[in-house]
Amino acid sequence: EVTIGVLALQGGVAEHLNHLNQIRGVKAKAIKKPTALADCKGLIIPGGESTTMRKLIKEYNFSAALKNFHQQKNIIWGSCAGLILMAQEVEGEEKEQLELLNIKVQRNAFGSQLNSFIEKDVIPKVSEQTQELVYIRAPLIKEIGPDVEILYQKDNKILAVETKYLIGTSFHPELTTSTIFHQYFVDKIKNIAS
Ligand code: GLN
Repeated sequence: EVTIGVLALQGGVAEHLNHLNQIRGVKAKAIKKPTALADCKGLIIPGGESTTMRKLIKEYNFSAALKNFHQQKNIIWGSCAGLILMAQEVEGEEKEQLELLNIKVQRNAFGSQLNSFIEKDVIPKVSEQTQELVYIRAPLIKEIGPDVEILYQKDNKILAVETKYLIGTSFHPELTTSTIFHQYFVDKIKNIAS
């Protein structure tokens, strides 16, 4: 059994926990303080509001713990606001990021809340089954470093990336009924751990 955390400061925590709990061999855990990361092999930074979450990360002393968790070769997946927080650079912002993932992102790249939308597509690296891709005031990945691979792009827009230890998605697999994407994350953790 592998323990996987969901950073539980703000945002879509329950949805990620619910998806992880549907996967065999996974123990999902809400992470409210840095010491709770100790027995985790993976972590999800959920969607929500990145400015608020950044403040809480600072307030609860998570910055060093998250960087350390990454350096110890654990897997981290950031979805939406989580992706923004992991990015090396956020367009137009000078605030401190976690700087885990060598990408540049643009926040709210698809317009206002009214411009939230759902698409259906196959992400071949993840599964041959069609997935629902839910975008809510989603960020766009504008630039990627040489160590970053594109996991999914559409119409020249990069919407998901990965490295050996990181995954970032603009969309929200936790808001669909499918656990395909969470399974991909769990498999990545298990492959590294074994
Ligand atoms: N627009 C939000 C932000 O910039 C992210 C939206 C989301 O996580 N669904 O933080």
